[in-house]
Amino acid sequence: MTEAIRIILIGPPGAGKGTQAQRLRDLHGLVHISAGDLFRARIKDPNDPMGQQLKAILDSGALVPDAVTIQMIAERLQQADCAKGFILDGFPRSIAQAEALDAMLLKHNIKLDAVIQMEVDDDKLVERISGRYTCGECNTGYHDTFKPAQDAHTCDVCGAKDKFVRRSDDNAEAVRARLKTYYNQTTPILPYYEGKGMLKRLDGMASMDEVTAAIEAILKGPKDSPGKNPPRP
Ligand code: ADP
Ligand code: ADP
Ligand code: ZN
Repeated sequence: MTEAIRIILIGPPGAGKGTQAQRLRDLHGLVHISAGDLFRARIKDPNDPMGQQLKAILDSGALVPDAVTIQMIAERLQQADCAKGFILDGFPRSIAQAEALDAMLLKHNIKLDAVIQMEVDDDKLVERISGRYTCGECNTGYHDTFKPAQDAHTCDVCGAKDKFVRRSDDNAEAVRARLKTYYNQTTPILPYYEGKGMLKRLDGMASMDEVTAAIEAILKGPKDSPGKNPPRP
């Protein structure tokens, strides 16, 4: 059995975290854990008592309170499929979340392979976010200019018809708020991981294929170094 890969993707909104996480999931059979996707699933669920509160927070561009987010991710990481390895996309986003994640991993004797920071200029982020849409059935990500679906009505991956959706927080005002949140609350976790020698940076302005190649190159490095998790039986 191949060794499980466990990575964190950090980057501003629109950096390409979800795009790369979907690719790594398909290439390596990893579980893609997106905090944003988990929140959006709860918002869609009419029986979730917090759904409406979560929607208001996501639309504002602020972070969901740490306690709620940490609990949700802890529950997700305990599910059996995560033994295959995972990509954390958009978690942690605050120092408290990074510390809580460390405690969770330590408890289960799990080591991360890399924490990858995707750097993209603000102008480009706005361009990416304003053209973003996803398939409402399988969640595959698309872009009006950079990755349009082959047929405007049909998902390339699952074939769903007229199921494309745009996020309510992908508007200019919410994007400005999300960028501010990123610089104020999330970038302080970068020195935290740098201090542990785990942080790798990559140029997120490059093409999707080039970014995937850069991540693959990063993953080749730490897998051979000491401290890597032993292979699972
Ligand atoms: P993006 O494409 O902007 O990176 P996400 O789908 O990752 O967006 O997140 C959407 C929203 O969900 C965030 O603006 C925030 O409100 C909430 N959210 C996502 N991840 C976290 C987190 N780790 N902690 C708190 N809130 C989060
Ligand atoms: P994030 O999850 O970091 O918010 P996404 O992966 O959703 O970002 O990407 C934002 C938008 O930009 C999507 O529409 C996606 O198709 C597009 N995109 C992602 N990576 C690239 C890239 N390297 N070049 C051009 N467009 C990209
Ligand atoms: Zn689809």
